Amino acid sequence: MSDAVAPVETDVVIVGAGPIGLFAVFELGLVDLKCHLVDILDRAGGQCTELYPEKPIYDIPGLPVVSGQELTDRLMEQIKPFGATFHFGEMASALEKLADGRWKLSTDAGTEIVAPVVVIAAGGGSFVPKKPPLDGIAAFEGTGVFYAVRKMESFRGRNILIAGGGDSALDWAVNLQPLAKKLTLVHHRDGFRAAQHSVNRMRELVAEGKMSFHVANVRALHGTGGALEAATLSSPDKTEWRHECDAFLPFFGLTMKLGPIADFGLNLHENLIPVDTAKFESPTPGIFAIGDINSYPGKLKLILSGFHEAALMAQAAFHICRPGEKLRFQYTTSSSSLQKKLGVA
Ligand SMILES: Cc1cc2nc3c(=O)[nH]c(=O)nc-3n(C[C@H](O)[C@H](O)[C@H](O)COP(=O)(O)OP(=O)(O)OC[C@H]3O[C@@H](n4cnc5c(N)ncnc54)[C@H](O)[C@@H]3O)c2cc1C
Repeated sequence: MSDAVAPVETDVVIVGAGPIGLFAVFELGLVDLKCHLVDILDRAGGQCTELYPEKPIYDIPGLPVVSGQELTDRLMEQIKPFGATFHFGEMASALEKLADGRWKLSTDAGTEIVAPVVVIAAGGGSFVPKKPPLDGIAAFEGTGVFYAVRKMESFRGRNILIAGGGDSALDWAVNLQPLAKKLTLVHHRDGFRAAQHSVNRMRELVAEGKMSFHVANVRALHGTGGALEAATLSSPDKTEWRHECDAFLPFFGLTMKLGPIADFGLNLHENLIPVDTAKFESPTPGIFAIGDINSYPGKLKLILSGFHEAALMAQAAFHICRPGEKLRFQYTTSSSSLQKKLGVA
């Protein structure tokens, strides 16, 4: 018997769960199209939550001031009625045209999604972790070195070393501590960029003897055959010591790289996908590009531009997914059928 999982079938697959991918779910939902979203990050919001969750945004129509995190939370609430499926922590890695005219999008986690319409809402590309410059680190990646936590359970009973001073390092130190056999956090200084409540909780756990914190850098990794056994740590006064661990999680921030989308055959210009401004479709029929990833004369990389692009894309996507069916223009204020879809009538 084969272990292969059958591809998921849907109307629209969206690459990117940034603000524009999220709003696309809303516009597609109003025309009854179902969506699956893929994002390499472990949560929604794209740049808004990853780069500036607490910064105020002042140019979202109708919201005089809203933080990156709050805008994301509000979009998630707004799209709730449409029950989109999220595939977080997965990189969209390949796109293939099927004989029946639909597209198959594959992810690096083995998920396959088949749909007549693909919407690329990938912003500036996928966020990829900054890797520490340690000799031989690649040999441990996926077995002893992890740049993200995809399944917390896989860390149960392990001797975990976390490095970093931002939100990811502190959040995961606090969240993995109850599962870990032993957990140690290292950072190059005794000061953090993370949310104060996470820093406070980490300090409480240290005071209770449930985890350790050292001001130190990781200098080397040791182990054989991909099995991590220890790390060399060094303190600011250059004292070095061997620290036993079997899982090392460096959280040194993220950079944005276009990644596999460059190989989707979309004729990119300067890493952007050219689109027409009537439908926001790329020159490849059935593939749309909205938000920061597209280019057209006069493009402004603003969230409000992406919202408009999503609305027009949805109309065009409808005609591909429901050929021959009529689409009636309706207002959410006055249409009882739209209100039913939104769960307010
Ligand atoms: C500091 C800062 C302040 C800003 N302030 C404002 C402002 O005040 N007003 C404003 O309008 N705009 C502002 N912007 C710009 C705004 O954030 C962007 O225009 C907006 O985030 C674009 O949304 P998006 O959904 O197109 O892309 P993104 O937010 O970049 O989201 C794209 C998502 O796609 C995912 N992705 C990409 N490739 C893949 C792949 N192959 N597989 C899986 N996932 C993938 C990424 O992980 C990401 O989550 C600001 C930007 C920054 C950095």
